[in-house]
Amino acid sequence: MDVNLTLKNYINGEWVDAKSGETRDIINPYNQEVIATVPEADETDTKEAIAAAREAFDNGEWPETPATERGAIVRRIAELIERDKEELAYLESLDTGKTMDESRGDMDDIAGVFRYYAELADKNGGELIDSPVPNSVSKVVHEPVGVCGQITPWNYPLLQASWKLAPALATGNTLIMKPSEITPLTTIKTFALMEEAGVPKGVANLVLGAGATVGNELSTSNDVDLISFTGGIETGKKIMQAASGNVKKLALELGGKNPNVIFADADFDLAVDQALNGVFFHAGQICSAGTRLIVEESIHDAFVEALVERVKKFRIGSGFDEDTQMGPLISAEHLAKVEKYVETGRKEGATIAVGGGRPEDPELQNGFFYLPTIFTGCTTDMNIVQEEAFGPIITVETFTSEQEAVKLANDSIYGLAGGVFTQDTVKAERCAAKMRMGTVWINEFNLYFPHAPWGGYKQSGIGRELGRLGIEEYTETKHIFQNLKPEPLHWF
Ligand code: NAD
Repeated sequence: MDVNLTLKNYINGEWVDAKSGETRDIINPYNQEVIATVPEADETDTKEAIAAAREAFDNGEWPETPATERGAIVRRIAELIERDKEELAYLESLDTGKTMDESRGDMDDIAGVFRYYAELADKNGGELIDSPVPNSVSKVVHEPVGVCGQITPWNYPLLQASWKLAPALATGNTLIMKPSEITPLTTIKTFALMEEAGVPKGVANLVLGAGATVGNELSTSNDVDLISFTGGIETGKKIMQAASGNVKKLALELGGKNPNVIFADADFDLAVDQALNGVFFHAGQICSAGTRLIVEESIHDAFVEALVERVKKFRIGSGFDEDTQMGPLISAEHLAKVEKYVETGRKEGATIAVGGGRPEDPELQNGFFYLPTIFTGCTTDMNIVQEEAFGPIITVETFTSEQEAVKLANDSIYGLAGGVFTQDTVKAERCAAKMRMGTVWINEFNLYFPHAPWGGYKQSGIGRELGRLGIEEYTETKHIFQNLKPEPLHWF
């Protein structure tokens, strides 16, 4: 597909190269070919982008632009994403290796996120509150936070960006976006669409570069008021520390090690199907992947057998091949991490029921492919049960009572999401109430939509994206009190 893309940073309404002249090659994970060369910005470019966003916030019209007008621009972005859906999906698959069907689905979700926040833009007004003082007016208003630094990961590059861009723009903030340095293409394209939609100069800036330079500058800068970060837990901790200098607002969407509890009274075929969907989309590179399967002992053998049978039939290959169900991992570095994780599982004594290596197909040898893998005989003290694999890997544990199932599900430093499969709805509600996670699905897995808040308990993060809460992240709340009949107190 022929794509017209300006591969540059976007700072103060201009498409610019990195000041240093440095560049970075973007690699196709399917075959390691260079698909694009983009500027490699550093602290100098980042400072310039922060200054532009600061100026646009402090002295520009955007924060005071009527919310309805801002909403119209955000809606226009949604329309342009829909117009260019095929091109965006193509770029996302090229950059991440995921199938075109998955990327098309992502683009629909992304347009939906912009539409949702376009609708909310003018519904964020203040309210009058009851005042204890006669003849007074007491009101609460919601204002933009200011200059926002937004840092995104490589697994759902544009989806994660949309969760940040749409609410920030709808509420009148200005921003600097730093996409993952290995998957910047759809974000670059979307900045061109935002320009076309009429986002004013300086309001939305794009800086392409590494975490240690661009990301760290955004996190430490005293001119940035909020950092919204999606990525790994260790990076999240570094950002928290870096952001403490000026006590920035923080929104952190970190990792997950998500349990999927299967009771013996579940609809068996549904649970098998959803257990697979819960993990193997995008080769398991999903923060909410249900990688910790917790199965009632009485159905364990039959359940694992059914999973293995289906997994053996997976079609692995190019995301552009219509038959492909699962693409490669993102990079050589990540593949090595997943291989090491599986090695750990072997050493810890877990049994590999299927997978456990790279595919032998000669056509896949240039890509970062890994076979879908299931470990059985897992226990909660194993590293593979506690650490995020971020690859196509399931660990299976067993339980014999509801209490034990919930205990195992909660035995994690993470608390992003989890699932329960049972036909006993009362039992399902009981479990959901006890599970310490930001999202619990019942007889479903990995479903999210713009109206429902998304985020983690425990070390899976701070704050929420999506839903009304997603807009609240980008607003400060102010109380304004006016005494209509002021009189001196004569106290002093
Ligand atoms: P990562 O933490 O390595 O990188 C994420 C982003 O942070 C990148 O843009 C990177 O350049 C930047 N970064 C790296 N070091 C930085 C620093 N010192 N200061 C500022 N920025 C820095 O994560 P990743 O490997 O890109 O993504 C995978 C992780 O993301 C997984 O742990 C996954 O669970 C998590 N994730 C979470 C969610 C969620 O909604 N909770 C969604 C998607 C991904």
